[in-house]
Amino acid sequence: KANRKFHPEDTVIDVNGVKIGGGHFVTIAGPCSVENEKQIVEVAKRVKAAGADMLRGGAFKPRTSPYAFQGLKAEGIELLLEAKKVTGLPIVTEIMNEAYLDLYEDVDVIQVGARNMQNFDLLKALGEIDKPILLKRGLANTLEELLMSAEYIMAGGNEKVILCERGIRTFEPATRNTYDLSAVPALHEMTHLPVIGDPSHATGKRNFVKPMALATAAAGADGVMIEVHNDPSRAFSDGAQSLTPDQFDDVMKSLRAVRSTV
Ligand code: PEP
Ligand code: MN
Repeated sequence: KANRKFHPEDTVIDVNGVKIGGGHFVTIAGPCSVENEKQIVEVAKRVKAAGADMLRGGAFKPRTSPYAFQGLKAEGIELLLEAKKVTGLPIVTEIMNEAYLDLYEDVDVIQVGARNMQNFDLLKALGEIDKPILLKRGLANTLEELLMSAEYIMAGGNEKVILCERGIRTFEPATRNTYDLSAVPALHEMTHLPVIGDPSHATGKRNFVKPMALATAAAGADGVMIEVHNDPSRAFSDGAQSLTPDQFDDVMKSLRAVRSTV
């Protein structure tokens, strides 16, 4: 179902009025983790003012260490819904376990994180609902494997899948992951599904986010996901790669310039 061969036209997904794919470019921005009401509402207002189309924020966090902040869970989703009410931005948040699916009723896009790309029971459960799914590439998975995971969701009847390149593990330690930007044209050839890039997780370094966000747009992606925090040095997670609202505003201005040239 994901194969371009059997479905030549680009799929355009409507997220609460925001279109993505087939020439519709979206910017998804927000903190790595939802931390409290003031933080998420403040960041939501700032990214909206800068021109973001959707708000992201993690409530259930897949952390490498069990001692690291695990997210506000159900309360985090409530706070995202609050920020959505204030700004009107559709919200994107990660799910780690299908047992909690009921909590995502009013979430606009459900994210499957890199670590769960091949959690097949989760993918099957998401195939049975009617809601856009943002599927991130696994840390060490091929594009074929990413598409097979999309297929798990689509096989159940939910064909609203957005793919995300977020960097893969290589031997290069200069960046958190290695941003495989050629995944964008490669996936566009292989599939009709929208493809976005995440330069924040791909690089892990704030100073690399702007150049790689611009490169993502130049490569023809259907959108970018960027982490933004009101006070990155105090962020509960991923502060080193989070932009300040002012830095995000600057990226948005340059993104518009790059997009007008592709
Ligand atoms: C995230 O988006 O906060 C996240 C955990 O990303 P990834 O699954 O790509 O590591
Ligand atoms: Mn993060």
